[in-house]
Parts: sequence; C-alpha cells; structure tokens
Amino acid sequence: MHEEPALRSWWMPFTHNRHFKAHPRLIERGDGAYYTLADGRRVFDGLSGLWCCPLGHSPATVVEAIRKQAGTLDFSPTFQMGHPGAFRVASSIAKLAGRPDDRVFFTNSGSEAVDTALKIAVAYHRARGEATRTRIIGRERAYHGVGMGGISVGGIPANRKMFAPLMIPGVDHLPHTFDPSKMGYSRGQPEWGAHLADELERLVALHDASNIAAVIVEPMQGSTGVIVPPKGYLARLREICSKHGILLIFDEVITGFGRLGTPFAADFFDVRPDMITFAKAVNNAAVPLGGVLVNESIYDAFMSGPPHLIEFFHGYTYSGHPLAIAAAEATLEQLAPNGDASRGWIGKAAALAPVLEDTIHSLRGEPLVTDIRNLGLAAAIDVTPLPGQAGLQAFKVFEQALDRGLYLRFTGETLALAPPFIATPDEIRTAVETLRQSLRAAASH
Ligand code: PLP
Repeated sequence: MHEEPALRSWWMPFTHNRHFKAHPRLIERGDGAYYTLADGRRVFDGLSGLWCCPLGHSPATVVEAIRKQAGTLDFSPTFQMGHPGAFRVASSIAKLAGRPDDRVFFTNSGSEAVDTALKIAVAYHRARGEATRTRIIGRERAYHGVGMGGISVGGIPANRKMFAPLMIPGVDHLPHTFDPSKMGYSRGQPEWGAHLADELERLVALHDASNIAAVIVEPMQGSTGVIVPPKGYLARLREICSKHGILLIFDEVITGFGRLGTPFAADFFDVRPDMITFAKAVNNAAVPLGGVLVNESIYDAFMSGPPHLIEFFHGYTYSGHPLAIAAAEATLEQLAPNGDASRGWIGKAAALAPVLEDTIHSLRGEPLVTDIRNLGLAAAIDVTPLPGQAGLQAFKVFEQALDRGLYLRFTGETLALAPPFIATPDEIRTAVETLRQSLRAAASH
C-alpha cells in the first residue's frame, strides 16, 4: 500500500496505520458540533470527538479559560505543593456527583484513572488489615483503557491477547449482559438480564470474599457498542458487593458528566458505587484530564501513620495540571451552572435523548442492520458482517457516512453515535438520515 511520506512517522493509536496512510482522513478544524477536514469538507461530529466533547469544539469560555491560565500559571508541581484551581474543581466534581465528602484523585486519562482506582482498592483493604483482598473482578466486553490494570480487568480479546504474561494476576470476569436474542432492538434498559449479576455470587463462592478487593464495571459499556445494563442488574451488583465487603467501582469515563442526561450514570441508575473513574467530558477533552472519585471512608483508611509521611505512593507529574483544571472549571460551569445540571447542557442532553432514541430506532429494517440500542445521548447499531472479513462492513458504512458529512465510530460490527449536547434535534435527525443513506450505499456496493 502506498504511504503518504508526510504521514510516515506517527504510529497512530488504535488505527489501521497502513490503510490510513494510504487513504488519510485528516481533521483540520473543529467548531461547535462540526469538524472541517483537510479537503474542506464539513462533517457533523456524531461521536463528540471520542465521546469527550459534549460542548462541541472550541467553546469560547473553555478556550478563554485555558488562554488565561496559560498566561498566569502554566504548570504547578502537585507533589507536596498545590494550586487553588485543583481544589476548587475537585470540590465541584464531588458536589456535582452528590457526594460532597468524596475525595478526587486527578490523573491525565481514563486509563490512568482505572489503574489508580484498582491500586486504591487493593491498598485500602491492606490498610484496614485485610491484605488478602487483592482479587479484582472485571467483565467481558469491558473497556477500561490500556494500562496493565485496565487491560487485565477489561474484556476485549484483541486488547489482551498479546499481553497475557504482563497482565495483573488474580482477575476474574463477570459475563457481559448482551444477548440480542433476549433484548434485540431494546429502547433504553432491557428487561432481561438482571440475573447475570448473580454470577458475582458464584465468583465469591469460588474465591471467598476475603480474597476479593473490588468489582469494576462500566455502568453502560460504551466502547464495545453501547451495551445497556438490564433493569436491576447494577443494583444487584451493589447488593452483592456490600454483602461481602467488596468495593464497587463504576468506570464512568464515557458516562460521567452528562452522557446519560444526569451528572453521572450512578445518578441515572440510582446506584452508589464506592469509587467512580472519570475523564473525557470533565473538561470537554480540551486538555487531558481524568480522575477518581473516592468515598470518604476509603480516603480515611489511608490517613493513618505520622502526618509528615505520604499516605499513598502514587501520582503523575501532570495530576491536576493547571490548564486541564482551568478547562474543567469552565466546562463544569457550562454543563451544570453552579452545580445545577438541570440548568446546563446536561439537562439539555436529557431533553435530546428521546430524539436520538426515536430517530435511531427508525433504522430498523434498513439493509445490514441486525440490532439497535440506545441510552441517554448514546446509541449503536450492529451490522451484518461480511463473510470472512470481520469488522469490514462497519468500516464501509463509516466511510460512506464520512463521505456524506457524518463522523461516527466503528468498532467490530458496531457503529456508535454520541452527539455533542449542543446538537439540535434537527442535526440529530439529519445525522440518522445520513446513516440510513450510508447503510443503503454500503449494502449496494
Ligand atoms: N474507561 C472507559 C470506560 C473508556 O471508555 C475509556 C476510553 O474510551 C477508558 C477507560 C480509557 O480512557 P483513556 O483513553 O483516556 O485512557
């Protein structure tokens, strides 16, 4: 395949590099809900970047906050020093989550947030004198980033199979909850599947609770195709974890900050995890930022020993980076002014969700479509695979859509839509119509 020489050096992440460099798709600008490609085409951003730009691109207040911060304090060490913004934003995040006594540990990405949460879980039990609680339970089809902890608890075979010897030991997986024969074309949460949470009891019986530190799940599995939890499933997981002293971690890197129309998925499902990992939308992804919301009692367990000693040997040079924090402060004010989600873009996301649900399900019966599902401002459709060429069909639909001015996500045989909260109902309708034309075109080629 001919590679453009100018594109040679960058080894791109999660990308078919050879194909891309022969047929590049370059984005030059972003404004509002649109990207402009290098060839001048304007494309609707149907995935909020990578699920991370609810306010669209370059929103004025976020841009201004970063600009101002860069000229005031560009970097501040956060080991044994601090800067005021990080404390303010931590407090706003805890309040927005309705958990004002929680503590927030900042990271730079979702992957780091996940690995941080796993370390906190294991260290917490040890600090309380239960050092045998080290086992972590993840779930099939989960995506928890690409750190060693994240791929170990994650459930995507391709992300794991090359790295088996490097993965953390003592991990088990719950079954995933997706069964199209029982929940095909679900609107919102499927009725079937709460019993799958009882598999956790089986794992507890196998290993004994005294060896299990935590369960980590995405409340809604995003990256593997908007897999919506069955009604009652997460509450049941919570119940079993509480019964056995196991920590429950929600990975809200996608669902945090409004994707489901509530501040967190924990609010949407009315289930309270012990920790929440977040990233992406927290600052509209303008500067890398992630973090972990940690229940106060977990934090307190670390706060022993002589006060001049570090309590948790963990952190990143860029934890709470001033530019990322400034972007977060401006973003949070847009998403939930004064902490009130209903008055900000989170409330608007809730209002848009039914438009996405109605329009996306109108694709039922279109060529190639085998399933459609949705929750909040996220939706996915599955397409029939091309025989012997796994993943190619969804890519073909993606290409057709891009040609028609719509960017969305393809993974495996799934296409996902997660528009920015600033999208209008008409833009969502147009995006779905574009997807309809793209499916028809891909089917006839
Ligand atoms: N966890 C979840 C649920 C995610 O969806 C992602 C990324 O999409 C991550 C973790 C990893 O985040 P990052 O790519 O910022 O490391």
